[in-house]
Amino acid sequence: MAAELFYDNDADLSLIQRRKVAVLGYGSQGHAHALSLRDSGVDVRVGLPEASTSRVKAEEQGLRVVTPAEAAAEADVIMILVPDPVQAKVYEESVKEHLKDGDALFFGHGFNIRFGFIKPPAGVDVCMVAPKGPGHLVRRQYEEGRGVPCIAAVEQDATGGAFALALSYAKAIGGTRAGVIKTTFTEETETDLFGEQAVLCGGASALVKAGFETLVEAGYQPEIAYFECLHELKLIVDLMYEGGLEKMRWSVSETAEWGDYVTGPRIVTDATKAEMKKVLGEIQDGTFAKNWMKEYEAGLPKYNEYKKADEDHLLETTGKKLRKLMSWVDDKE
Ligand code: NAD
Ligand code: MG
Ligand code: MG
Ligand code: MG
Ligand code: MG
Repeated sequence: MAAELFYDNDADLSLIQRRKVAVLGYGSQGHAHALSLRDSGVDVRVGLPEASTSRVKAEEQGLRVVTPAEAAAEADVIMILVPDPVQAKVYEESVKEHLKDGDALFFGHGFNIRFGFIKPPAGVDVCMVAPKGPGHLVRRQYEEGRGVPCIAAVEQDATGGAFALALSYAKAIGGTRAGVIKTTFTEETETDLFGEQAVLCGGASALVKAGFETLVEAGYQPEIAYFECLHELKLIVDLMYEGGLEKMRWSVSETAEWGDYVTGPRIVTDATKAEMKKVLGEIQDGTFAKNWMKEYEAGLPKYNEYKKADEDHLLETTGKKLRKLMSWVDDKE
């Protein structure tokens, strides 16, 4: 099933230009969306609490800042770009009462809609425009006349024009310059959670740690183990990013390539894949979302415990020391 792609010519910018847009939040995504919407000729206001430290930044960058409730009251398109675990609270306190039939509620990730933490009224369009990159890249690409590919979805099409409006919004932040892929809230949310847990964040961290510990426990120096199991990973991932597994294998030695074929499947085994399927099941049935929200509302006790344990891990203390030797890496910390 190939994805459906949409470009600049498929999107009508005037749809979003005729609306009043509120961007709630001014973090990674919020700042990029608000500034690029403004530069695309859209009437945009940023919604931030009185106490928010981001207020000054948004105002310095020429945006009008009001409270989230004022922004929602003024606007007929409301993009929620506050952290996922606080979106339901912001929605209840500042957005819900200001929604009128024909308004549109926008998201950058489907979590709260997919798992029912936010339940918008029937008369409102519910859309998603999610750039496939961090906000700072989204903004930089826009300014350079390019764009970051986006995915777009409609959960509820009350007006009959929800997808066209989502494409118009995506055009205003540069997304249709690169290409917009149509998805659903369910597909985006479930694949995003699975990817970050099983492969990108969870899988990669666990793999690096286990490899590092194996070498150190066998008596090798932690500094050498750090280079072999963490530092060099970037070179490998860069090659995969540029040209898939094929380019990575073309670039490494034949010995490394042979080791890849014979050892990889001994590390990520059928049992690992069976566990991945269990993880996916717990994402799909809402278990993960329910437990995460419970942890967040309890004040993040386990989250902080896990964070602390890894901060004190020899992998991390070794890395801190070694990165100081590499000026080009250390600069970024
Ligand atoms: P962020 O943490 O960078 O920024 C959140 C912003 O919300 C901050 O400006 C913060 O001050 C503000 N905020 C916090 N509590 C608030 C409240 N109660 N009322 C109003 N504002 C409040 O968040 P982000 O990474 O930009 O994520 C926003 C959304 O975009 C999320 O749904 C996320 O899943 C999605 N998303 C993020 C990325 C990414 O690369 N960061 C990519 C795609 C989608
Ligand atoms: Mg309104
Ligand atoms: Mg993702
Ligand atoms: Mg995510
Ligand atoms: Mg080597």
